[in-house]
Amino acid sequence: MAQNGGNQDDGTSQHQQTLAEARAAGVARILIDESDLQREIRAIARELDEEYRGDRPLMIGVLKGAVAFMTDVMKAMTIPVEIDFMAISSYGASTQSSGVVRILKDLGQDIEGRRIIIIEDIVDSGLTLQYLLDLLRRRNPKDIRVVALLKKNKAEAATVQVDRVAFEIPDEFVVGYGLDYAETYRNLPYVAVLDPSVYSEPGDA
Ligand code: IMP
Repeated sequence: MAQNGGNQDDGTSQHQQTLAEARAAGVARILIDESDLQREIRAIARELDEEYRGDRPLMIGVLKGAVAFMTDVMKAMTIPVEIDFMAISSYGASTQSSGVVRILKDLGQDIEGRRIIIIEDIVDSGLTLQYLLDLLRRRNPKDIRVVALLKKNKAEAATVQVDRVAFEIPDEFVVGYGLDYAETYRNLPYVAVLDPSVYSEPGDA
């Protein structure tokens, strides 16, 4: 029953708890907590403020994974910044990037002569980012800077341009703070490692 004017504390905290449990089901451990995320984001925002002072850069978020990171970075910045989004999808297996990329949503504007900040969620093999950079460079922006929330430490990663990484992480599959597994976990406020049971089908040896 909805209560108006009564003490809603119990209902609200119970609701919050249920939400938290639902969101966190399957999380094995938190890799980067909220306060570490926000501290690094403030540092990145200060750097971008300095780099682009007097300019009006165009921040391009790569959907969907970069949404949480991008909104926090732009809110922490103090200079004027425009935003746009691209959605791209890799062909092939779901957990491995093939480097063959399809554009699902393109920019809504011409970027010739513009100063571009690409905001990525995670650089794994680097193939997706490489494709995106090649594509945007052909449109003749003034310059492009790449800021990534996460970069996996792996030897075979492409030598792709990444100007600023918030956190280098081990080569594990992570979720949260924008990142998903099968479209779940994006709304966790932290970056976490999934419990392996989430990946394994019932009946797996
Ligand atoms: P790359 O082309 O191998 O660098 O893959 C980049 C894309 O794969 C990212 O933008 C993510 O969407 C996805 N991805 C790679 N690693 C992870 C992960 O650990 N968790 C969630 N998504 C990932």
